[in-house]
Amino acid sequence: MDFRNCELCNKIFNYAGYGPVYCKDCLKRDEELMRAVKDYLDRNPGAEGDEVSEKTGASVETMTKWMKDGRLIHPAAINLGLKCQSCGARIYKGFLCDDCIAGYKQELMDAAESKEEKKKIERHIGGFRFLEDKKR
Ligand SMILES: [Zn+2]
Ligand SMILES: [Zn+2]
Repeated sequence: MDFRNCELCNKIFNYAGYGPVYCKDCLKRDEELMRAVKDYLDRNPGAEGDEVSEKTGASVETMTKWMKDGRLIHPAAINLGLKCQSCGARIYKGFLCDDCIAGYKQELMDAAESKEEKKKIERHIGGFRFLEDKKR
């Protein structure tokens, strides 16, 4: 017997020795959620975390955990848990939030001395895929 605390509800249960440390109830709910998420991603490749969460009822935290545990193998199809490296805001793509990208770009533009340099910056920043995706 291997009694453990369920990682989700903290109930003590008899752990089978493999897989996530969830009690039977949580495991069942977890598997149902994961199936829903996988189905959703199969039908909507590239969906974002918030959207998937809204449609399936699985929280972004849960999905992040699945990804970390290597149980949800859809890394290209879902964007989770990324933080802007400058201000810490939650983002779904790349490494900076839109605000910081805009600020960063402005800073570079202000510092640029020639038209050529400005053009280069325009090209460089515009090359970030998430900028194009997230145009408002
Ligand atoms: Zn549980
Ligand atoms: Zn930011």
